[in-house]
Order: sequence, then structure tokens, then C-alpha cells
Amino acid sequence: MPVKKENIRIGFGYDIHRLAKNRRLILGGVQIPHQFGLLGHSDADVLCHAIADSLLGAVAAGDIGRYFPNTDPKFKDISSLLLLKKTALIVKTAGYRIANIDSMVIAESPKLSPHIGDMQKNIALALGIKKSQVSIKATTNEGLGDIGRGKGICAFANALAERTK
Ligand code: ZN
Repeated sequence: MPVKKENIRIGFGYDIHRLAKNRRLILGGVQIPHQFGLLGHSDADVLCHAIADSLLGAVAAGDIGRYFPNTDPKFKDISSLLLLKKTALIVKTAGYRIANIDSMVIAESPKLSPHIGDMQKNIALALGIKKSQVSIKATTNEGLGDIGRGKGICAFANALAERTK
């Protein structure tokens, strides 16, 4: 079914990956020093994945599994910034531009605040928008549940898309 051409559309995204040994921790395209990294077929950048899903959701274009299946060897260890680049193209092709993104990473450790600026920069560059259009927040899970025990990291994102044509 084609997307109905509303002027403003909202999208939501969520993702979670397990933390494992012998993996690099990549969040928002930034490699962060940590004893564990996120496990996944790509670089497992949970923040980029949540943002990609929120953008696809805004234009009702399905989810990232549809475009970047984790069974495709082409996407093995791929930088998720490239997935964001392709997602931006899908949004554009649907006749929309990205108005803004707001996101939240939930990680018990390490401390993410020193890296937020670089993550914003990377994501904005990949999407072809300004850093001021990309909000990234970080919190812990207060020790609760699997995220709180440091078994994984999850991320939520909202995106707003504006019609261009
Ligand atoms: Zn993911």
C-alpha cells in the first residue's frame, strides 16, 4: 500500500543487542572503549538501528530487516552508518525530508556522555542533516533487569519527517 502523503509524519524505533567479549562497542558510529561489545551480524550499532527503524516507520517503509537482512553476507560487520545513509535515501525517495530525531540509549556502562557529540556528528553526516537535528540521550537502567546487569544495550528513537513533494 503506498504511503499516504501527510505533511508531517512521526516514526518510532527500538533495538536491543547483547554485550559479548571480543567485540568492539560501536554506538552512533563511535568506537567506545569497553571490555565488551555488542553482538550482531553488522557492527550491532543499536542506536543507528533504532534510528533507522524510526525513519522507516515515519514513511511507513517497513523495518530495517526488510532492507538489510541479517542473513545477507553483504551486511556482515558493516558500519551501521552506511545503513543510515541508505535509510535517508529511502525517506527522500518516499518524498520526505528528516525534520528531527530524538533518541535514547540505555546502557549500564560505560559512560556515554563524553561521546554523544561525536555520535550526533556521525549520524547527522550519514543522514545528510544538521547535528542540531539529532538528539541523543543516554541513561542507565538503574541496575534493573538484563540491561541493568550489563547483559545488553538498547535504544529507542523517534523521527519526524516532513513532506517535500
Ligand atoms: Zn540491531
